[in-house]
Amino acid sequence: MGGRCAALPSLQEFAGLVTMPRMTLEALQDFVERHGRLFILTGAGCSTDSGIPDYRDADGDWKRARPVLFEAFMTDPLVRRRYWARSLAGWPRFRRARPNDAHRALARLQQQGRVEILVTQNVDGLHQAAGSSDVIDLHGRLDRVRCMACGSITSRDELQEELLRRNPNWASLDALQAPDGDADLGELDFSAFDVPSCADCGGLLKPDVVFFGESVPAERVQACWRALERADAVLVVGSSLMVYSGYRFVEAAAAAGKPIAAVNLGRTRADALLTLKVALPCAQALAFLLEPTARPDVEHACAG
Ligand SMILES: [Zn+2]
Repeated sequence: MGGRCAALPSLQEFAGLVTMPRMTLEALQDFVERHGRLFILTGAGCSTDSGIPDYRDADGDWKRARPVLFEAFMTDPLVRRRYWARSLAGWPRFRRARPNDAHRALARLQQQGRVEILVTQNVDGLHQAAGSSDVIDLHGRLDRVRCMACGSITSRDELQEELLRRNPNWASLDALQAPDGDADLGELDFSAFDVPSCADCGGLLKPDVVFFGESVPAERVQACWRALERADAVLVVGSSLMVYSGYRFVEAAAAAGKPIAAVNLGRTRADALLTLKVALPCAQALAFLLEPTARPDVEHACAG
C-alpha cells in the first residue's frame, strides 16, 4: 500500500524535532557569548546529576512533604528532634556528593572572567568544589551549623560526631534522601532523640541554611542587588524560581530590560519574562562551555 502510519511524524516534522534542540543550544551559546557580565542564578536542577534530588517536579510542585518551617524549628523541640534525626541519617550521603559537568561548566565560564556573580540557591557547596570562587550561597551552607544565641559557626561534620555519640541507635537507619540533606524516616518516635546545644553558650543549634519562613540575611541580598546592577544579562540554571528569594532578581532584571535565559526541565515561575528557555538537563545544556573548541575565534578553524 505504501501508506504512512499516522502516528509517526512526517519527514518535515521529524527534521524539526531533531534540529530544534540544536538551534536552542546554539541560541544559548550565542546568549552566553554576547553577554560578558552574567548574573548566574542556580538551583536544585544543577545538582541533581550529583545525586542530590530536586525539590520540585516539572510543574514546579512539591515532590515530597514541605520542608521544615523556621518558626516550627525555633519553637518546637519535637520538630528539632525530628529534623536532626533525619539529618543524621541523610548527612553521610549528602556530604559525599561531588560536582558534575554543570558545576564545572559554570566554573570554567567564571575562570574566563565572564561571570559578574554566581548566586546559588543550593546549600551543597558544589560550585566551590568545582572551582568557582565568587559565589553567593543565597540560602546558606549545609556543612555549617550556627548557634542562634551567640552566632558561633561550627562544622556539620563535628555535629555529626556528637549526634552519633548521643544517639548511637539511629546511626544504622536506612533512609530516603531529600534535597536538604535530611532523610525520610516516616513516622518514627523521635521523642528520645538527644539534640546537642551550643558547646559555648548552650544556645539552640540550627543548620546555617535559610529555612522556609526565614529571611535571607540582608547583606547577602544587598550583594546580589549590587551584582545585578553591574550585570548585563541573567542566566538561570536549574531553578523553577518558585521561591521568591531567587525570583525577585529575575523579576528586577526583566523590569530593567536585561535579557534573561533559563536552563530548566519544566516550568519556571519566570517563563513569561524569559528571552530564551532551554528545557534540557543543566550539564547537557552547558556542555559547550567544556569543549576545547568553544571559543568563537577558533570555531570555524577546521571548516577551511
Ligand atoms: Zn552559642
